[in-house]
Amino acid sequence: MAEKIIAYRFDRLDQTLSQLNNENCVIIAGGTDVMVLHKSRRGVPPKIPKPIVFIDHLSELKRVYQNDKDLHIGACCTYSELLEDPFIPSPLKDAIKTIAAPAIRNRGTLGGNICNASPAGDTLPLLYIYNAKLLLRSVKGDRIVAISDFIQGPRRVQRDHNEILAEIILPSILEGGSHVVFEKVGNRNADAIAKVGFAGYIRLNGARIDDVRFAFGAVGPTMVRSMDIEKKLLGKTVPLAAADIAQIVAAFDKIIKPIDDQRSTALYRKTVALNLLRYFLSMKQYQPN
Ligand SMILES: Cc1cc2nc3c(=O)[nH]c(=O)nc-3n(C[C@H](O)[C@H](O)[C@H](O)COP(=O)(O)OP(=O)(O)OC[C@H]3O[C@@H](n4cnc5c(N)ncnc54)[C@H](O)[C@@H]3O)c2cc1C
Repeated sequence: MAEKIIAYRFDRLDQTLSQLNNENCVIIAGGTDVMVLHKSRRGVPPKIPKPIVFIDHLSELKRVYQNDKDLHIGACCTYSELLEDPFIPSPLKDAIKTIAAPAIRNRGTLGGNICNASPAGDTLPLLYIYNAKLLLRSVKGDRIVAISDFIQGPRRVQRDHNEILAEIILPSILEGGSHVVFEKVGNRNADAIAKVGFAGYIRLNGARIDDVRFAFGAVGPTMVRSMDIEKKLLGKTVPLAAADIAQIVAAFDKIIKPIDDQRSTALYRKTVALNLLRYFLSMKQYQPN
């Protein structure tokens, strides 16, 4: 006989937070990672070691709104909802369109992608270059943490058991003026897990680089980003000189350390990651998007 699972589904966020404070539970948003993680053999219900708390229906976690130039995205917005939302920047929509297939996009959430902390999470390279901040809520109040501090390694995040990721904040994103790209390399264009992910961001003042950011996914335990390397490009003019491009590519060559696994080889991943960077840096023109 199947084991019983204790499950909670409260009407309100404050009730949910109280429960999480009283008992260590597994949070389920869309469940598209949790159910795979705990799956049993065919026909047998998943074995989840703790009580579960559903949060996907909580309206407080599903709002998308603008606060000055910052964009706030509710952690439980599904991918399909975000694709329909006029506030969501087009590069993030491009990344979402590469995730799984519509059925998963109807369930999977942005908050789930972050809290699952897979090195191949497709939204993560973009969220790193957008300098995303995360608003975590508990009965004790709110705290805000940078995504790069929150994600510690594969499936490891800095979240207390009584906290819910409530919002993803993209600072100054509505200011515009930046050219942002997202590239995913997988076995096919959609419904494939990334072998390599890349996000690039550049903001120019005339031809001069005012701000530039890069993040690579699936080539290390967390996203690879280096502000020290990015700084080397500030003040340079585009198109970049071949020597500048070579210097940046060589610097990333030293810190990108992928592994061989069932999806790809370390050599392929590194070659592709550096090619994507070289291509981005070699562009003759960057249009704000
Ligand atoms: C067939 C299939 C294909 C997939 N393809 C892709 C793909 O192409 N690209 C990709 O990136 N991912 C893919 N995924 C993985 C998955 O769909 C995404 O990571 C999705 O964003 C997870 O969101 P969720 O709401 O379903 O998370 P859940 O499974 O509900 O939760 C994931 C983890 O985050 C925690 N959590 C969720 N929300 C919160 C919150 N608000 N606060 C605190 N903790 C929270 C949960 O406790 C759990 O640990 C795929 C999954 C499947 C099953």
